[in-house]
Amino acid sequence: MKYQMRNAKIYVQERADHRDIGRRMDWDWQGKDLRVKVLYSQKGIATQIWVATSTGYFLMDCGDGILRDLFPYSADWIHRLSAILLSHSHFDHVAGLFALLSFLRLRNRTASLVIASPDRSFLQEIRRFRDRMFAGFPYELDLRSIEESNPYQCAGFQIRSFAVPHSEHASFFGQAMPVLAAGYCLESAQGEIVLYSGDTGWFSGLSRYVRGVDLAILEATFDLPKGEGRHLTLEQAQQLGHLAKTTILVHR
Ligand SMILES: [Zn+2]
Repeated sequence: MKYQMRNAKIYVQERADHRDIGRRMDWDWQGKDLRVKVLYSQKGIATQIWVATSTGYFLMDCGDGILRDLFPYSADWIHRLSAILLSHSHFDHVAGLFALLSFLRLRNRTASLVIASPDRSFLQEIRRFRDRMFAGFPYELDLRSIEESNPYQCAGFQIRSFAVPHSEHASFFGQAMPVLAAGYCLESAQGEIVLYSGDTGWFSGLSRYVRGVDLAILEATFDLPKGEGRHLTLEQAQQLGHLAKTTILVHR
């Protein structure tokens, strides 16, 4: 059958121009040594938080849409991204990771990249992905399960993680299943600290980590309490936020 084009409406999408980048990052917070932009954060969709320093970039969580979120900005992040800090392995925090790793390969990154996660089996999945998908992976993946007692130095900054309580939605398994989850503290040599809670339920030790930090990025998922150990309520996050010098609430 001949293809009839007459009267057809044809839409041609403008091609995204990879050179048309360089929009200025409108920072959500700027300290002396660290700057923070919440690229995107919505519960059940995606969360990705960008932290810039003079020596490298850090990405806290890597949800779906990460490439579109980063694309408008200067492309130096392709080579200067130092570490990806994953709070846990729920899809809205990791779904963009494999696209990002593939994109870095496509753009000939050569520098080693740290990926931290509290979930060793997920780190193993990343290792498998690398081995299965790419015979010649041009950059090293430095996969780390960072313990609270064993902080790690990266690009001149200290990364510490701390375990937090978090669980699956109870309806999936009939009961709430705990997942391996962590929060992170990123500290400059001058002692400036950015804390990210990841997904966490309330626990009494959380205030100890938040107190006095320069910026606390806290999840505030629920408007009202919905079961222990899954997420903070807005009220709990606001209370905690008063302990930090500045607070940004995310994952709403
Ligand atoms: Zn989660």
